[in-house]
Amino acid sequence: MTVWDDVVGQDETVATLDRAVRDPAAMTHAWLLTGPPGSGRSTAARAFAAALQCAEHGCGTCKECRTALDGTHADVTVLATENMQIGVDTARDLVALAARSPSVGRYRVLLVEDADRLNDSSGNALLKAIEEPSERTVWVLCAPSLEDVLVTIRSRARHVRLRIPPAQAIADLLHRRDGIDHATALTAARAAQNHIGIARRLARDEGARSRRADTLALAVRIDGVGTAVRGAEQLVAIATAERDSALSERHATEKATLLEQLGADPSARTQPPHVRSQISALEKEQKKRERRFITDVVDRCLVDLLSVYRDALVVQSGAGDIGLVNEDHRQLVDRVALALRPERILAAMDAIGTARERVAANVPPQLALEAMAVSLQLPR
Ligand SMILES: [Zn+2]
Repeated sequence: MTVWDDVVGQDETVATLDRAVRDPAAMTHAWLLTGPPGSGRSTAARAFAAALQCAEHGCGTCKECRTALDGTHADVTVLATENMQIGVDTARDLVALAARSPSVGRYRVLLVEDADRLNDSSGNALLKAIEEPSERTVWVLCAPSLEDVLVTIRSRARHVRLRIPPAQAIADLLHRRDGIDHATALTAARAAQNHIGIARRLARDEGARSRRADTLALAVRIDGVGTAVRGAEQLVAIATAERDSALSERHATEKATLLEQLGADPSARTQPPHVRSQISALEKEQKKRERRFITDVVDRCLVDLLSVYRDALVVQSGAGDIGLVNEDHRQLVDRVALALRPERILAAMDAIGTARERVAANVPPQLALEAMAVSLQLPR
């Protein structure tokens, strides 16, 4: 066993990082790991942090390895944010930490999971600390791609690129780590389009599978403006339900904790002004997180939907044996392939792409999706 076991399909990356851990000449103090969502970049970053702390360079079993992997190591700080941007105060806290020597470990590791969310001011605050770090400080920054990171930051870090892990490698991981049978694991990995986290959820969560099935079914359900509007509503409803199941409880807990910290009476009808202002600041953060969550879920639904049309093109071209994303929804794919000519399929894919751009640009999802859904009509 090693710390790299859960980093799947990334032989080159693992080799580079492992060499750095073992050979001082290959080591540097700032790293930038990029890879598409679900490729496992934060898993790779944590494994790297663990290997750096471990006396055996990443045995996977010692206390240093285990605590670094599960996020409780005193000298490994992980910054993961759900906010759109990393604020300058957060960046300054990291800089202050970076100046301190490690307390128990061999290095002080600062892991920034979403380095693409650094803005000009928080990025600037980090610059000097990244360029001239203390002797035993290592920065590990993660982002979807190089282009997402401020030029000033990326020019000061060594870049390591993760690739999209192959479906088979993901299936093996799900089988080995989560005990999922091979066939289910492989179907889930394909359906998730090689996103490790989504594959795991699809393999284990019946609700996630049925939400995906509902999304895919839109491809054959729309035959006019009325069904298009209802289809858009349904997608938004799917996203809202996911948001509620993921965030409601957590947000209520956060609020209760804050009230307790402030010594306020949670049952009071009105709170004193200083409590009110803190509560409203928290609620503002929570609202932002909820919006971001909806945007993310809608985008994932659209990627699912897009895959139906991609599969239909594959079927039409007679190249079905190169592997369908939606092998588990073959009838649906066949219906689309029979009903639409290739140019109509491409138009549908364009409409989905446009909807993704609009949702990312903060157009209300319902509007963006209605416009898209009208283009997804099947001939009656
Ligand atoms: Zn170890």
